[in-house]
Formats: sequence, structure tokens, C-alpha cells
Amino acid sequence: MSLGLDNGAVTADSTRASEAWFDRAVRVSPGGVNSPVRAFRAVGGTPRFIVRAEGPWLTDADGNRLLDFVGSWGPALLGHAHPDVVAAVTAAVQRGTSYGTPSTPEVELAEEIVARTPVDQVRLVSSGTEATMSAVRLARGFTGRDLVVKFAGCYHGHVDALLAEAGSGVVTLGIPGTPGVPAHVTADTVVLPYNDRAAVTAAFEAYGDRIAAVITEAAPGNMGVVPPVPGFNEFLAETSRSHGALFISDEVMTGFRITAAGHWGLDGAVEGWRPDLMTFGKVMGGGFPAAAFGGRRDVMALLAPSGPVYQAGTLSGNPVATTAGLTTLRLADADAYARIDGASSVVRDLVGEALTSAGVAHVVQNAGNLFSVFWGVTEAVHDFAAAQQQESWRFRAFFHAMLDAGVYLPPSSFEAWFVSASHDDEALSRMSEALPGAARAAAAADEGNR
Ligand code: PLP
Repeated sequence: MSLGLDNGAVTADSTRASEAWFDRAVRVSPGGVNSPVRAFRAVGGTPRFIVRAEGPWLTDADGNRLLDFVGSWGPALLGHAHPDVVAAVTAAVQRGTSYGTPSTPEVELAEEIVARTPVDQVRLVSSGTEATMSAVRLARGFTGRDLVVKFAGCYHGHVDALLAEAGSGVVTLGIPGTPGVPAHVTADTVVLPYNDRAAVTAAFEAYGDRIAAVITEAAPGNMGVVPPVPGFNEFLAETSRSHGALFISDEVMTGFRITAAGHWGLDGAVEGWRPDLMTFGKVMGGGFPAAAFGGRRDVMALLAPSGPVYQAGTLSGNPVATTAGLTTLRLADADAYARIDGASSVVRDLVGEALTSAGVAHVVQNAGNLFSVFWGVTEAVHDFAAAQQQESWRFRAFFHAMLDAGVYLPPSSFEAWFVSASHDDEALSRMSEALPGAARAAAAADEGNR
């Protein structure tokens, strides 16, 4: 099975097993994948089938060892298969995989989340999509209003009402709207340009008494990384409150990653405000399906069984998933965050230097340790319209050159790059070896090959 080379150089022969698996996959599943961005549609080529992951390294079905900057799209904060997480999960599995009753790790995980973030209470669910869907329902139940304000380029999972102008996966696939979502559902969604205070003010002037909630990514990472301009989240929190609407901060991607308290640790904790509701996922599941929404005690009190807003889940608070999440969060200490921030900063510098030397116009943008590269642009990107101006075709050439050199990047220029606490010196030297050639490939890329 192992045709690949361990030094990261991938040859045409060394992708045969992935290609064979993909042929099988497309016969039995749409597009051959179970989540669209995995399909390489934005960059072309055949996705790799991964058979093993350890630390910052993936091993594909051909035996190629790839340096990973996807990290399962966020959960792998510590790197893959951290030995303490594996041990805790193995022990948990032996105690039974699901009880359908209250269990102790779910209380401990909820306590850990409440200790790290400004929420008073949380409800555990199984995916980020479920968390945002439930938070919106709760906000509507609490306010008795229907409208939801969201921002173009922010992705909040595939919730019907929130799939308007939803960033990465949807953009990448070029889906113009959201087929399958009835018009009356999106009629209650107001989509505004990100980072645009005037647009928010105008929306509240027009519909203020009908708006149930403003939902935003705490720092958008689904149109590339587009951090909020200073004070923007605070402005959203205050504007919502002054109109009787709730402010929902979606920290599914940023939560427990950017700081111990998520992106809120960089703005709300410093500026002295808190969202009414927050959503979490990814890191808090430790690689298993676990997510959460939480917030103000008086709002959460409306949730069944304490209150009338219904929400439930067979596998919510699953003992294996909550054990994985709890163990991950307990290991995510100041030292882990320092390592992630340090590695992220080195990688950002390396990428910037390589692209500059090759003469590729670019902007590297970050929100804490989360970052992405905008191709062919020269000015900071503040919203989705600007993000879409980038030369994604340069990324396509860059992506494949990096992959051929043994580095696995998110397969779309609209996705964030995820660094883990396990990205060590060996990982960084693989990165610096791979970059110059890939930067030259991006420089030589031809727009006609879009
Ligand atoms: N919210 C944000 C900010 C996300 O990035 C994602 C997924 O990438 C979601 C919600 C949806 O989470 P899930 O894929 O677990 O449903």
C-alpha cells in the first residue's frame, strides 16, 4: 500500500490508493465526500484519504506523511491523537458509549466552559450547526421577534435561515443561493456587510422592533480570516441591547482556540462586555461530535425543561465526546496557547517572506493564531466583497505545490489555516522547505487555469 515517500515529496504514483478510494466514494456518496469542502472542488485534483493522524502529521492511504494545517477544521488544537486524550477516550469507551441519562463528564465539561467564558449556563449539542440553530430559536423565543441579522461571508453551519451569503463552502462551490430553503425562511434573515457600522445602524432603524438577534462569527474565519475592526463586536452587543435584541457571538471556530476564552478573550474580556448568547464547537469536542450554546441565565432559563423553548438530542452530552472535550480543554493551558501562537506567528512570517520574494501580491490576515492568506490583493480585507476580489487561482497552484512537497493546506483560499500546539520545529522546517517552490508556482500561475 505504501508507495509514498516519507520525506514529503509526493510523486504521481504516490496518490494511487487515494484515487482508487475516491472512485469508490463517488459511486456511493454525492461528490465522494461527507462535507463539501473536503472535495477539492476549489483547487482541483483528488482528495487524499487519510488513514492515520498523529501530532501535526497526517498519513494518507498511499503512505504519504503530510504536515497538516487543517486540524480537522479546528478541533485538533493539541495536534492529532494526543496520548492523554486517547487514554481518556479509551477508558470512557470501556464504560459504555452512550447512556441517554445525565452523566458526570457533561457536568464537568459545562463547568469548564462556564469557567472560561462569560456564559452562565450551557446546553450541550452534537454539532456547531445545531448550536447556532438552537441559539437562534432561543433568541426568537426570548424576544418574541422573528428577524435575524447576519453578515455576508459569515458561516454559522447549514441552518436554513443562516445559509444566506454564508462564506467558504458555499462560495467555493459557487452555489448562488440556497436551493431547498423556502423563501419565507430567508425572508426573516437580514444580511449586512461585515464590519459596517452604518449598515447595522440602518437595519436597526428600519426593523429595530422586529429584530430578535444579531449573529456574527466572533472573528470571521469562513471568508478567509477577516477580524472585526476594533470595537465592532462591542458595538454589535450595545446596539442589539439598546433595541431589545440579543447578540449571539458564534465562537464555534474561534472558541478555546484563539485564547482560553476564545476570541472574546481578546475583545469582550478586555472591553468589559459580554454576548447574550454564544455558540461553541470544534475544540470543545476534542475531535468528537460535541458543541454547545450558552449565555445569560435569564435567557437560558427559557429552554426546555426549565422553560417552553424546545431543544433536545439523543447523543447530546455523549460521555465519550464530553470526555474527549474535557481532556482537551484541561490540556489547553497557557503553555499550549503560547506554543500555538508562536508557531502561527512563525508560519505567517514564513508564508509572507516566501510570497514577497516570489513577487506575489498578498495580505496575510490573522485573528490571534487563526490566519489566512488573501491572494493578489494589497490592502487589508474587511468584508466579504473584498475577500471575493482575491486571485484564488494563484492559491490553486500554491496549494498543489505545497501538497506535492508534503504540506496539507485547507483546500480553499476562503478557509482559515489551523495551527496546533504540536507544530514543532520539524513541522516548521518542512514548511520552510516547501514554501519557496510553492510561492514560485503561485507567481507563475495563469488566470486562464482557474
Ligand atoms: N459556526 C462556525 C463559525 C463554523 O465555522 C462552523 C463550521 O465550520 C459552524 C458554525 C458549524 O459547525 P458544524 O460543522 O460542527 O456543524
